[in-house]
This record gives sequence, structure tokens and C-alpha cells, in this order.
Amino acid sequence: MQSYDVVVVGCGVAAGYFCRELVERNYKRRVLVIGDEPHLPYERPALTKGYLINKGIDVANFYTCVGSGGTKLDHEFYKKNGIHFKFNTKVTGIDFGDKVVSCDNDEKVKANHAIVLGMGSRSTRLEDFRMPVEHIKSGIHYIRDIADTDRLIAHASSLPRGSNIVILGGGYIGMESAAGLIKYGHKITMVFPEPKVMDRFMTQRLADFYESRYRSAGVTILKGDLASGLLATAHGAVNEVKLKSGKSLSADLVIVGVGARPNVELAKDELEIHKAPPGGVIVNDDMTTSMNNVLVIGELAALKSKDGTINRFEHVHYARQTAMRAARTLAAMDGTISDPDSPFIYEPYFYSRVLNLGWVLYGQTPPADKADVHYQGDMSELGDSKFAAFWVCNQARKVVGAFMEGGSSEENADVKRIVSQGASWPLKTEFLPKAESPKLN
Ligand code: NAD
Repeated sequence: MQSYDVVVVGCGVAAGYFCRELVERNYKRRVLVIGDEPHLPYERPALTKGYLINKGIDVANFYTCVGSGGTKLDHEFYKKNGIHFKFNTKVTGIDFGDKVVSCDNDEKVKANHAIVLGMGSRSTRLEDFRMPVEHIKSGIHYIRDIADTDRLIAHASSLPRGSNIVILGGGYIGMESAAGLIKYGHKITMVFPEPKVMDRFMTQRLADFYESRYRSAGVTILKGDLASGLLATAHGAVNEVKLKSGKSLSADLVIVGVGARPNVELAKDELEIHKAPPGGVIVNDDMTTSMNNVLVIGELAALKSKDGTINRFEHVHYARQTAMRAARTLAAMDGTISDPDSPFIYEPYFYSRVLNLGWVLYGQTPPADKADVHYQGDMSELGDSKFAAFWVCNQARKVVGAFMEGGSSEENADVKRIVSQGASWPLKTEFLPKAESPKLN
């Protein structure tokens, strides 16, 4: 049986940042990363942005860690630093006690020191809602990896201009894929059950701004409705989406962006699983688990804070931060660093780029009964699309969350500082002076 000191299961964004941090912390042990894709770790967020817009780009252009301004880690980097890969390999079982990993090609690999789980999450599928789709042989797309996106690009490119694309979901995938497909020249309709896009945190006012930009770009938005079934041609190609409201939409291509689920299956019998949504494998604030020398990185990790609360965030920033923290934990165990930066407190940060827009969100976005939201800047139709929103908690009158559209890196950093310092409201100086402008809608 082959053996390595550390075996990483999953070759996603988290694996890339984990490896870079190990190297930067002088970690000397032999590491193996096992993944079911044929690629080195790449920045998955590119798939619904540049990759889709440009109809595919060489994966080497978006190897980690370019997405956060770092260098692209290529084969040379990993080789030089004693980091090995098994590609196209699915891990089918893990014996956490003996630290033996079984693969779908019947190979077994022993981890002499530590196992690191970075299996991430998978797209929620229509089958998960018990929607019958066995009769559909083609035309339904999910976006999670390069292969998914290549299939989508090939399909969308093969359709005559003006074909009908229906996107189920008004979250990240829905928003980014709609924007990314505009150049393809089709009719795009987004459908989702909530009253507004990005309902998980956007206020009505923020959502109104983005929805209006999407409508101007030609995207039709159907809110408060959802798919109840899909119909197909005699050859099994999707051709219609039936909605709960009784309406139906012609569909030559359907994208499903209705959420993601953490890949807990390999861990669920031996590790502590967070039962409540959003699930995940429970980890301490140094990314260790209930099993000795078993760590979890990325979106799979449900982080237990000192106060007992458990949080799991579905965003690349969380994947990167948790991965780097786990690497520091291992480096500290081996004494290559003395301070692993404990306790690790994750400060939520999300971002997206759509159309010619780009936003960032820091901190918490409590509901209307717990915080009020103050807007600054210009949200008008013809304005410069630079504005901020601050969530100010009712009781303490402190800023607990902030959203910025169109900010420079300095402005985004300022917004971040306002949140992490828990600045008192009103701010001492107006953040965007145009705030008082009557242009606000
Ligand atoms: P999401 O949670 O962001 O949005 C899901 C959307 O689907 C919501 O609008 C929801 O109301 C809707 N929905 C739920 N059930 C539905 C149904 N039956 N019919 C129609 N709509 C339904 O999830 P996502 O957009 O699928 O993205 C999945 C994951 O991909 C995210 O969790 C995120 O981590 C990742 N992602 C992130 C980014 C980014 O951060 N910029 C970009 C792309 C993907």
C-alpha cells in the first residue's frame, strides 16, 4: 500500500490554498491530494464568470491562488514542494482509525500522520426535490466544475440565436450564469420562489437595483414561482418547464441553480455531522475534528465557535480561510510555526461580479426586526452605480454588516474595516458623500 504523511481528500479551491499555506509555513511532510477531476486546484468562481463569458479558457489561467491575487500554483510548484496528486480518482471509503483511504480504482493509501477532508459540496439536483426527470436525456445543466461548464457552453453555443434558456434559481448561480450567457444571444428567463433575487441577504432596495439592471440587459425575471415539472421531446431533449402557478415556459436549455449540499457521506459514520441546515462536518476553530489528526477544510467544514454556535458558509473566501487555518494547525503540530493564529474567528465575506457590476458583502445581515439598513451613494438608473448599504443593529447601534457595489479596493477595505471595528452609527464621516442625494430611489 502506498503511504504519505498527509492525505487530502478533494482537490478543490480549499486544497490549493491548503497546500500553498503548508509550503509558506515550511511544512516538510509528504502530501498527497486525491481528486476526481483531471485538474490541479482551480478557482471555481471563474466558471460562472470569465469561463462562461469567454466560452472556456485554459484552466492554467485560473489555478489557485490567482483568485485572491496570489500566484498560480502549477505542476512545477507542487512537484518542487513534495506535493503529489492522484487525479480522476474518487475516494470511496475512509478508515479514520487506521487512516487508510480507499479509492474507486481499488487502490488504498495510508496516511501516516493526518487526513484532511476537502470534498466541498455538490449542486442540489431536481431529483433531490423528487422531481421526476428520468425522461430527460439532455438539456439540464448544473454548474459545479469545468466539465459541467464545458457541457453548458457547448450546448448554449450549438443553439440557434434566440433560443430559450430557463434558469431555475435566483441566487449566485442564477445571477452569474444569466449574466454570463447574455453574449450568447438567447432569451433568458430566471424563475425562483422568493420575492427577490439573492433573497438570502439582499434587501428589497438592493434587489430592485440588480433586477432592474438584468431587465435592461434583456433577462426576464419570474418571482414567486418554481418549476413543478419538465417536459422533453421524443428524443429526451428538454423543451418545456411547467411552473407551480400553472404557467409553462419553452425551454431549449435549463440551468438549475437551486443551492448546494455538503458532501458529508464519507465522514458521516465516524465524524460529528451538523444535523441542522446548512449541515457539514463539525470542526473546532483550528479545523480539527472529533477524530485525532483528521481535519476538514473548505465548504464541508461547519465551524464551531467558542460560544458553541456552529456556522458553515458557502463561499470561496470561507474555503480559502479555513484551508489556510488547517495548514497552520498542521505546521504548528510539527513546530514549523509557533503561533497558528488561534482562536480562528471567521469574518464572513462574500462577493460577486455580474454584468458590469461587482459587489462585496462583509459581516452579518440581520432581518428587519433586528437591524435597520442605511443606504449611501447612487442607486439610480442612470447613476454611477456606486453605493453602500450598512446593517445597523437596533440595540447597540453598531454596524454589523455592509454591502458595497462598485467600490475601489480601498473603498471595499474601508467598508470591511467599518464592519470589523463594529463602528457606531451614524459614522463619524459620511462614507459616500452622495448619500444624501435625492437620486436615491
Ligand atoms: P443559492 O443558495 O445562492 O441560490 C439558490 C436559489 O435557488 C435561490 O434563489 C432559491 O430560492 C432558489 N430555489 C430553491 N429551490 C428552488 C426551486 N425548486 N425552483 C427554483 N428556484 C429554487 O445557490 P446557487 O445559486 O445554486 O449556488 C450554489 C453554490 O454555488 C452557492 O452556495 C455558492 O457557494 C456557490 N457559488 C458562489 C458564487 C459566488 O460566491 N459569487 C458564485 C457561484 C456559485
